[in-house]
Amino acid sequence: MKVPDIGQGLKNVLFQHGASLVGFGDLSNLVSDGQTYGVSVAIAVPAAVIRSIEYGPTPEYYHEYYRINDLLDDAVTAGAEYLRQNGCEAKAMTCGSVVESDDHRTALPYKTVATRAGIGWIGKCALLVTKEYGSAVRLSALVTNAPLACAKPIDESFCGSCTACAAACPGKAVSGKLWNKDMDREEFFHAADCRKAARMLAKEKLNKEITLCGKCVFVCPYTQKYIAE
Ligand code: SF4
Ligand code: SF4
Repeated sequence: MKVPDIGQGLKNVLFQHGASLVGFGDLSNLVSDGQTYGVSVAIAVPAAVIRSIEYGPTPEYYHEYYRINDLLDDAVTAGAEYLRQNGCEAKAMTCGSVVESDDHRTALPYKTVATRAGIGWIGKCALLVTKEYGSAVRLSALVTNAPLACAKPIDESFCGSCTACAAACPGKAVSGKLWNKDMDREEFFHAADCRKAARMLAKEKLNKEITLCGKCVFVCPYTQKYIAE
């Protein structure tokens, strides 16, 4: 059974579950099974929480980070269920279902689905950057065979000559090169150096053995525009 506008119905479900941004992307060049439509879901971190992380992660940021991850899991689970109820195949890419390799990569990164869905681009600091919220978003996704109307993908960076994240990074992980869709992450970003610095900062600021920093989120001019509004 097909509803008249399954895409709008899906968006309604996702926004009711707290989504800030939703986009549909064509993944046919990236996946080998029949679920070639990607649904990217972003939830913005509240501006007041972002204002607290200028010098590194705070308890508010830590709690919000995990609270939003739970919201995203619920949203994509509900979205996938909605699609299945309407006769389609769908799989929610919840945190627990995504497998990371030893070098902390996943087969289909949330950020890749987001760029294919036109939600944002990959910044010099390897975070997804959106025009609405900067990099102050958490992401999730689902995949489906539902014939959704896909957005124009974003293939190139809008960072321009900005170097704010490179200057703020305590791990010197940001090379300064502009991303495009054909680049591997290591061509413009040193993930191991980011991880090391973020773990040290989380230990210092939160006394926790986790990877959490946020300095590049805070300084991004697109984030600054969001928190100023
Ligand atoms: S999260 Fe921290 S360490 Fe990693 S790139 Fe951003 S500023 Fe650098
Ligand atoms: S701080 Fe500047 S260079 Fe870094 S992601 Fe944001 S816009 Fe891009």
